[in-house]
Amino acid sequence: MGKYRSVSERIGDFDSVEVRLSPEDLHADLTRCQDCGIPFCHASGCALMNAIPEINAQALAGRWSMALATLLDASPFPEFTARVCPGLCEGSCVQGLYGEPVQCRQVEKEVIERGFAKGLVQPRIPTRRLGMSVGVVGSGPAGLAAAWRLNQAGLNVTVYERDARPGGFLRYGIPDFKLEKEVVDRRVEMLAIEGIAFECGVDAGVDLSGRLLKNRHGIILLACGARRRRDLDIPGRGLAGIVFATEYLSSVNRVVSGETDSLPAALDPRGKQVVVIGGGDTGSDCIGCSWRLGARSVTQLEILPEPPAVRAESNPWPEWPRVRRDSSSHEEGGERRWSTTTLEFLPDGKDHERVGALRAAKVEWVPGDAGPRPVALPGTDVDMSADMVLLALGFTGPEDNPILGSLGVSRTANGGIAADKEGRAARNVYIAGDARTGPGLVVRAIADGLNSAGVLLGDHVNCRNYSLAEG
Ligand SMILES: Cc1cc2nc3c(=O)[nH]c(=O)nc-3n(C[C@H](O)[C@H](O)[C@H](O)COP(=O)(O)OP(=O)(O)OC[C@H]3O[C@@H](n4cnc5c(N)ncnc54)[C@H](O)[C@@H]3O)c2cc1C
Repeated sequence: MGKYRSVSERIGDFDSVEVRLSPEDLHADLTRCQDCGIPFCHASGCALMNAIPEINAQALAGRWSMALATLLDASPFPEFTARVCPGLCEGSCVQGLYGEPVQCRQVEKEVIERGFAKGLVQPRIPTRRLGMSVGVVGSGPAGLAAAWRLNQAGLNVTVYERDARPGGFLRYGIPDFKLEKEVVDRRVEMLAIEGIAFECGVDAGVDLSGRLLKNRHGIILLACGARRRRDLDIPGRGLAGIVFATEYLSSVNRVVSGETDSLPAALDPRGKQVVVIGGGDTGSDCIGCSWRLGARSVTQLEILPEPPAVRAESNPWPEWPRVRRDSSSHEEGGERRWSTTTLEFLPDGKDHERVGALRAAKVEWVPGDAGPRPVALPGTDVDMSADMVLLALGFTGPEDNPILGSLGVSRTANGGIAADKEGRAARNVYIAGDARTGPGLVVRAIADGLNSAGVLLGDHVNCRNYSLAEG
């Protein structure tokens, strides 16, 4: 079963790596889904509670438009999750107990893309307007989902985005080979036709004060992400050539989409020995981009130990399987080192201002009061050549964002945004997505955007349970 285009072909471009399931594979998987006794995929797995067993049964029966309607009942943007979701549903698929799970994400892609191809996914312009206005700050998946729901309920919605174009990490984080930007454009265009106004290039709190926004809209929903990057405070950190992964990925995305012409020299991996520090999605995306842009070598360092190939006994089904995953980018080459910490960055032999190498060591995880902590093992130090280092160490929470103070929103002691458990952060100010939950996944950001919009509707319009199907 070929899931991706061949490595030799795909590293020559930024097009989607994934190939469509063959009709035979699709039929086989949809049939396997019907053998399920009690499905866990939709409730225990999917954050949006997509009715996966029904969708798959309808698709197997050839009722694709019905499958589309069922999918859209729970999920406003299945074309995003169908491309980038790690497949939480597949982690709890009953077939996965003894073999390969049903490829639910690929089925989702088939359903939504057939819908678009047949012209069945059309803008739904609300027929009533309630005369109430909401300003949404941030246009990532959470902001878009909240805006969609509020607009469908008849509120007037304006989305403010400080970047040049809407999408958040969908546009400026995740590379095109996982999520083509035409897919983001297609949805944003539809949202605009449905009546949502987008004001891009506006840094809320800087270009527009919170008071002005409140005067304009009365109600504000903040979906500004969790973008405070974790840094590595070790000797040599100030050397040139050490950059944050998100800075690199956003520049690459801008070049691929034609928003800018070329990468700044400091972010161009061509001919360089690239070391990516951090083993998550962001790190993996850096690997794929670096190969496509002509890196000489790519090495990824991860401080955690290599996960097992199969579930440990302490991680039973239907929990999310904590097993080793190799992304399409990992298949493209390079080395991965586990249980490895970086001790210091070393200058280049000729240009002492630039990084030329890093010193790494193996770690052992030892129990501590605040949980296991890594301890470098003596005698395991190695120096590795590195002309470009990408820091993909994750995020520690929402950034310092002037819009927060400007709206009277306070921070928690651990750097989060203070809000009640339903996302009310101040009077008539709501919060959604990674900004509320911490760094997460696209599917969770969409679900949280819908939920926060539901809380807002319950407070102001008394229609909290407004169902997606009623739109
Ligand atoms: C490189 C990378 C790869 C990823 N890959 C995956 C993946 O494969 N699968 C997956 O499920 N998840 C992935 N994620 C995680 C996922 O992208 C995030 O969890 C999700 O985008 C969070 O959505 P959000 O809407 O809460 O925030 P964001 O997407 O971060 O959007 C926040 C938006 O708010 C805007 N903003 C902030 N402050 C202001 C302001 N003051 N005024 C105006 N605008 C403002 C920002 O510019 C941004 O556009 C990835 C993340 C990264 C960084």
